[in-house]
Amino acid sequence: MSSNQNPVVAVDHVQKSFGEVKVLRDISLAVNPGEVVAIIGPSGGGKSTLLRCMTLLERVDAGDLTYGDLTCAKDGTYGDKVLLAQARQRFGLVFQNYNLFPHFSVLRNVMDAPVCVQKRDRTEVEEHARALLAKMGLTGNEDKVPCQLSGGQQQRASIARALAMNPQVMFFDEPTSALDPELTAEVLKVIKGLAAENMTMVIVTHEMSFARDVADRIVFMDGGVIVEQGPAEQVIDHPREERTRAFLAQRG
Ligand code: ADP
Ligand code: MG
Repeated sequence: MSSNQNPVVAVDHVQKSFGEVKVLRDISLAVNPGEVVAIIGPSGGGKSTLLRCMTLLERVDAGDLTYGDLTCAKDGTYGDKVLLAQARQRFGLVFQNYNLFPHFSVLRNVMDAPVCVQKRDRTEVEEHARALLAKMGLTGNEDKVPCQLSGGQQQRASIARALAMNPQVMFFDEPTSALDPELTAEVLKVIKGLAAENMTMVIVTHEMSFARDVADRIVFMDGGVIVEQGPAEQVIDHPREERTRAFLAQRG
């Protein structure tokens, strides 16, 4: 990770309000190739909004948004639709609540976007999808519909679906917060596996020990700002800011 590499994704001086409420005050964050960034912080601090802005689900009011060589928002002004569509193919997104298509088989869920959006060859996509499902420990579940799977299996299918687009970066918003502890572990394990393969990732999580294990950098957000950031040994073990200390103390 040399510093002269272009970041895979970057936000620069991003601001976002909902009505009168300033949710993102002035956020700058650049994620380098192969880097794993964990975003932690109290509820309501703006973590999901930041992820939604970075994944173009929400428009920023001001600031720049870049994906490698693509600049999608400059001072909050978005480029054309073609550019946005190109940018959207560069990242994968996994939410708390899986969001699989309920009436599609697991295999079709994974194949849908590569075939319909990326217009890739169906045979090649199917092979890729089956391999990703195998990697997620889901072999034998290809023809089931999502409701026949456990929450942990559905979340792993969601991860396979996001990976099927060959993203340059994966975003996760509290991927295990809807899961029981034993199902959480299997999802965290596959995310760790991706980290070991140098997948670039931005992960909002309240799992502190997971964040410590997986992340190259921890970002602590509160009140719409990045309060502090750095390696886990710094932010989790030796936080500089009182707000970080208070949050971690409360988390136990
Ligand atoms: P976090 O993910 O850190 O818990 P969020 O980004 O979800 O924080 O929320 C930050 C703040 O923005 C909260 O006060 C929340 O109520 C508000 N907020 C988030 N989304 C919306 C929305 N679509 N409309 C209005 N307010 C919102
Ligand atoms: Mg959230």
